[in-house]
Amino acid sequence: MPDMGAITRTTVGRFAPSPSGPLHLGSLVTALGSYCHARQRGGLWRLRIEDLDTPRVVPGAAETILKTLEHLGFEWDGEVVWQSRRFEAYAATLHQLKQDGWLFDCGCSRREILASAPHAGEEGPVYPGTCRHGLPPGRQARSQRLRVDSGLICFADGLYGQIEQSLQSAVGDFVLRRGDGVYAYQLAVVVDDHAAGITDVVRGADLLWSTPRQIHLHACLGHSPPHYIHLPLVLGNDGEKLSKRHQQDVPVSSDPHLLWQALNFLAQAPPKEMCRASAREILAWGVENFSLARIRPVDQTF
Ligand code: GLU
Repeated sequence: MPDMGAITRTTVGRFAPSPSGPLHLGSLVTALGSYCHARQRGGLWRLRIEDLDTPRVVPGAAETILKTLEHLGFEWDGEVVWQSRRFEAYAATLHQLKQDGWLFDCGCSRREILASAPHAGEEGPVYPGTCRHGLPPGRQARSQRLRVDSGLICFADGLYGQIEQSLQSAVGDFVLRRGDGVYAYQLAVVVDDHAAGITDVVRGADLLWSTPRQIHLHACLGHSPPHYIHLPLVLGNDGEKLSKRHQQDVPVSSDPHLLWQALNFLAQAPPKEMCRASAREILAWGVENFSLARIRPVDQTF
């Protein structure tokens, strides 16, 4: 009999920025946290550019992000994956979901859904189920939605602990392909994380409540989902989360001191004398000493 206890899975982490602007402090924290987590376990770290939502893609931003990461000493495994080159995989997955009865055409406009659900939750209006049993007569298909059934989705986040959500009451059947033909983030992230063999997703806590949808989609496709670890968000001085969509974002330069500050943000307490070290030295210290247990799941300023 083989010793089953000896079979261990290699950790595979990833960083998946959207190229809607240069790297900002929030994404630097995510890159660093996911990198240290994967490398400390002797694992792989992959890079994916989430350039699906073409109206929001800023020309040249992806290249700037890659260059900044490189200057900061990050090394990734394998080729960079570009979501804009993965349409065939997304289409094939939609086809499979349709055949398996999970996907349906929806003819509702955003305005109609908003009107039917005036008390929208955190994740937007809850889909009222109008088209889930077939398009009402006279309706044209616009988007495609994934069926959500009753029951709670539960998972243990590596930092935020036990998370539960009733997808049905908090979200409803959700869009996998938008009315304008764009593949939804929820679809692409699940297809790509699975294809890349990602075992540990480390990312910003703004995506904590997207995770139940992703776990449901993994289940519909017969995948076991990765582990999820959400990191606290970097807040601007006004208390708002930093995001590439907001003007106040400070683009990250290649100054290695930022890595030291990002380790500090993640409560890793890097030694003071390290603050002027090279990017490689600071990263190596981070990989060696990284501990999730030190991080408090509370958003804060940088
Ligand atoms: N592309 C997303 C962002 O830049 C991250 C997606 C993910 O990590 O799942 O915020």
